[in-house]
Amino acid sequence: MSNSLTGMTSQASASTSSLSGSGMTTSNWNPEKSAELYGINNWGNGYFRVNQSGNVSVTPFGTQGPSVDLHELSQELLDRGIRVPIMIRFPDIIKSRVNLLHSCFKNAINEHGYKAEYRGVYPIKVNQQRHLVQEIVHFGKEVGLGLECGSKPELLVVLSMMINPNALIICNGFKDAEYIETAILSQKLGKNTIIVVDRKEELQLIINVAKKFNARPKIGFRAKLNTQGAGKWVDSSGARSKFGLTSMEIVEGIEHLKRENMIECLELLHYHIGSQVPSIQSIKSSLKEGARFFTEIYSYGASSLKYIDVGGGLGVDYDGTGHSDSSINYSEQEYANDVVSTLQSLCDEKNIPHPHIVTESGRALVAHHSVLVFNILGVNHLHREAPPRLVIKKDPTIMHDLQYIYEKVNKDNINECFNDLTQAKQETLQLFTYGVLNLEQRAWCESMYFSIATKMLNISKNNSDLEDIESTLRQELCDTYYGNFSVFQSVPDSWAVGQLFPVMPIHRLQEEPDHEATLADLTCDSDGKIEKFIDTKTGEYKRTLQIHEFKETQQYYLGVFLTGAYQEILGDLHNLFGDTDAVHVSIGEAGYTIDHYVPGDTVTEVLSYVQYDRNKMVDNVRQASEEFIQKGNITKHEAKVLIKHYEEGLSGYTYLEESE
Ligand SMILES: *Cc1c(COP(=O)(O)O)cnc(C)c1O
Repeated sequence: MSNSLTGMTSQASASTSSLSGSGMTTSNWNPEKSAELYGINNWGNGYFRVNQSGNVSVTPFGTQGPSVDLHELSQELLDRGIRVPIMIRFPDIIKSRVNLLHSCFKNAINEHGYKAEYRGVYPIKVNQQRHLVQEIVHFGKEVGLGLECGSKPELLVVLSMMINPNALIICNGFKDAEYIETAILSQKLGKNTIIVVDRKEELQLIINVAKKFNARPKIGFRAKLNTQGAGKWVDSSGARSKFGLTSMEIVEGIEHLKRENMIECLELLHYHIGSQVPSIQSIKSSLKEGARFFTEIYSYGASSLKYIDVGGGLGVDYDGTGHSDSSINYSEQEYANDVVSTLQSLCDEKNIPHPHIVTESGRALVAHHSVLVFNILGVNHLHREAPPRLVIKKDPTIMHDLQYIYEKVNKDNINECFNDLTQAKQETLQLFTYGVLNLEQRAWCESMYFSIATKMLNISKNNSDLEDIESTLRQELCDTYYGNFSVFQSVPDSWAVGQLFPVMPIHRLQEEPDHEATLADLTCDSDGKIEKFIDTKTGEYKRTLQIHEFKETQQYYLGVFLTGAYQEILGDLHNLFGDTDAVHVSIGEAGYTIDHYVPGDTVTEVLSYVQYDRNKMVDNVRQASEEFIQKGNITKHEAKVLIKHYEEGLSGYTYLEESE
């Protein structure tokens, strides 16, 4: 007990001070303010904006092009029986990204007078969904976009999907003889396949297979750069990175190919410094090292070397700040300019022909194209405007103390009262544990604690010198909004590596969002929540999201944006929440069309991954109900209802469905 509280007498007068609600009016709010608050014009990249109806709209080709209202679209999808959470994919955004990247390189090449071509490839590991790969191949046809695979199963996908004979197929990853045979034989089907030696052992395997089939494989070497990337995926580069050849291994590899009379098979040099590289400085230094490897290998006798593959790493601006691990400090055009100009100057210096430039950008091509839309199921409020009943004389001292704090707190003594409150909170718990407070008294103290905290928050809100208290109390009092989604299934990187994804309501943006909340998902895991949000005021993160009041009578929808890269395939079945429903929506002048509907997992499907058999499960429940029908515990009708629910449950969606 703090001294300031000991022995004080309670002034048990009824508190009449009215705490004017959350103290905010919505009259001077507008959609532009929402756009500013959520930073959508910073991270939206022109693909997402807030429209005049206060909804998010999607504009794959910028403001001049056609658009679709995301909230209206969601409603119309629900009307068709598609269920929330919904993953909505916009192939037009991919098209726009493919064209953007290509035109950036084209511009850079023209501007610098670079004397070779740009050849992009899409690494399918970033999102292998068939429809999406199909769309990429389709959109990429004109610009010669190729595909990259990083494993044997991915090679099989790529061989079936790549229908453009000139587009490159780059084979990375851990390879066995079977992988290599498949890749080399695919050349005999007219595929433009290049096998990259990621580990030195693979070279001998390639040579053996080439001899066996009398083939001249196209070979690449992956160099292990010393230059490190930066950011969350920094371990992909440096001397201890998993893949790549050291300079010594490269020298040996060249000698080996020369001995086998296969040196002219070496066509490509590859490196990859990791994903989501936040800084252009890291990209530039790796380019310099990579370009030097290129000129040296060429000069060492590999004069058929004609591609440099600079890997992935081109980042996405997830938070719009331009200075964090979830952001980038460069544009796609700057990236292309740096790649082209660095290669040009280092090659010119050594008088070596400019190589064709291959990039393996995955994230930058697909991250923007998908949005997860989910509804809010309920809210846990901690705000408490009205205090609990007045204390009476025989109540424990702690209750009198708390009521006293409630009555006396004002802007001049708030610091002192805040400390007293913290102390009283601890004391309440101790007293309960020691058997001094009963359950009703503990409940009163907790209730009073939240009333005091709410009153303090209202006082501190209007005082700029009370920002510390305000932010602590905001955290303490923030609501929890329960969303119909699973972090582990739909935004796993938010949990796994603390990556930020933009989250915001997709409607009601003409209203001021005057609540503060964290988002919890459906899993029972305490990590199943989102607690990292964009703060456009400070450019840092905040742990709560400003959000609208949740009304029981009106559905409230949020979107998680930029989820198109890595999230779908990394997503897992924690608590048996499966794939969400997904739709592909094209946007044209005449409106939108739904190109594909990919139903989410049923409970039965998810259960089959963990070896449960539907028929056996239903049979078990039927047998139990027979037994208890005989015993008279359950009627035949009740058993029928139970089994109906059981079977419908097994066929249903793993997420919460609205009852008809
Ligand atoms: C993952 C990976 C990529 C893709 O990287 P992004 O940062 O998504 O562009 C490219 N190349 C290789 C070798 C990779 O492992």
